[in-house]
Amino acid sequence: MIIVGTGSGNSILTPDYADWKVAIVERGAFGGTCLNRGCIPSKMFVYTSDLAENTRHSAKFGLDAHVDGVRWPDIVDRIFGRIDSIAEDGRDWRIGDENPNVTVYLEDARFVGPKQLQVGDETITAPIIVLAAGARPFVPEIPGLVDGPDRVAFNTSADIMRIDEVPEHLIILGGGFIASEMAHIFGGLGAEVTMINRSGKLLRAEDEAISAAFTEAYRERFTLLGGKDIEKVTEADGEFAVHLAGGDSVLGDRVLVATGRTPNGSQLGVDKSGVKMDEDGYVITDEHLRTNVDGIWALGDITTKYQLKHTANAETKVVAHNIVESANGGNDLHTVDYSGVPSAVFAHPQVASVGQTEQELREAGAEYITATKEYGATAYGWAMMDETSFCKVIADPTTRLILGAHILGPQASTLLQQLVMAYQFGLTVDQVAKGQLWVHPALTEVVENCLLDL
Ligand SMILES: Cc1cc2nc3c(=O)[nH]c(=O)nc-3n(C[C@H](O)[C@H](O)[C@H](O)COP(=O)(O)OP(=O)(O)OC[C@H]3O[C@@H](n4cnc5c(N)ncnc54)[C@H](O)[C@@H]3O)c2cc1C
Repeated sequence: MIIVGTGSGNSILTPDYADWKVAIVERGAFGGTCLNRGCIPSKMFVYTSDLAENTRHSAKFGLDAHVDGVRWPDIVDRIFGRIDSIAEDGRDWRIGDENPNVTVYLEDARFVGPKQLQVGDETITAPIIVLAAGARPFVPEIPGLVDGPDRVAFNTSADIMRIDEVPEHLIILGGGFIASEMAHIFGGLGAEVTMINRSGKLLRAEDEAISAAFTEAYRERFTLLGGKDIEKVTEADGEFAVHLAGGDSVLGDRVLVATGRTPNGSQLGVDKSGVKMDEDGYVITDEHLRTNVDGIWALGDITTKYQLKHTANAETKVVAHNIVESANGGNDLHTVDYSGVPSAVFAHPQVASVGQTEQELREAGAEYITATKEYGATAYGWAMMDETSFCKVIADPTTRLILGAHILGPQASTLLQQLVMAYQFGLTVDQVAKGQLWVHPALTEVVENCLLDL
């Protein structure tokens, strides 16, 4: 078996594979995006930035505290000092004596024929291949960002967390979750931030109430330039200029392009193996994560539009099981249950959601009821002096099942999980609200009270 990519792909090798001859190919840092340049470092930075932000806003609690300085190099060293050693140890362990059946190729892989991969100077082949090559930042076709002599030294999420100092003025192109988390990280640690995006709304895939409140909260912290097309990006002596349609331009000392992610299938040349991709470049699989080519499987960001680590992890377990099951001639193939995929944006404010948004339900012509409860309506919200955070739950008026749940505010990602559980296991709002005792006066009371209002 050949596995391309060591993000989630590295976790396929359960003890079931101890007797298999396996090749793992990785062109970058071992451990993939989540560990090296995604979920984990970004949340370590976010937590640090939360501390700084909360300190700045502590006067209303009667605390005279202030942030005297930000030791960015120390923060970077602390975070990547922890992460880089995990990546290196993971790589060395795979290469080492503990894994005698595994050959690790630290190379770029490219299909050159059916089930044939060019890896450095070698061409390798195997009856079973797992495509776990992930995705990379999408860079729009804007002059100054595309390859060529005018291309400026912009950053993406892949490298911005390792820069030498906090920029004075960071210009962020994009308004999704990565753009919003990075704005908080750098804004919280001292940068002036300008966000430029086409729609003018941030997190626009979220429920409309969440997106509106989030955009408003960010408008108070940062400069938001919405509804503007970018004509070109230029750079002179370390100063960047983002030129907008209509003649205005924004000047800054860093530009972060955070305009989405694109799957790595075509870069890997999967079509040379006969594997089909959809119009957005995602590898197409069936519900068991088999591609159209017998023996080639796919998981994670290369195939799944969710682009989340928890879906990639679930897919890894399914693929690990299904490959062994198929090899043994069995028919008990597993599938991933995508019915309740939660997600969170670790910005400031935090956002978390599961299920459908109100606008989706309205457009589908569905019957629904909603309730919204402010954190400030609960005792813990009083303690936090919170005036902006809320929980919104949408339910079916007949079955009283949860259709969607959306939270904006501190600990949203944690508060959401009990609603994910209710959603996933088909509990009614009444069962969840009244069938258990809720810790008083915990922040979870905002969820309880929201459900009681339905
Ligand atoms: C800034 C940021 C923050 C994020 N935060 C979160 C979060 O909070 N929560 C969450 O759920 N998700 C988050 N994500 C998304 C999450 O990181 C991804 O969904 C997840 O890592 C995908 O895993 P994967 O195994 O599919 O791909 P990856 O982890 O990207 O692994 C793919 C590997 O394949 C290698 N590779 C690619 N092409 C080749 C090739 N041709 N030859 C050899 N090797 C190759 C790559 O180097 C990489 O190591 C975040 C992403 C980013 C960028």
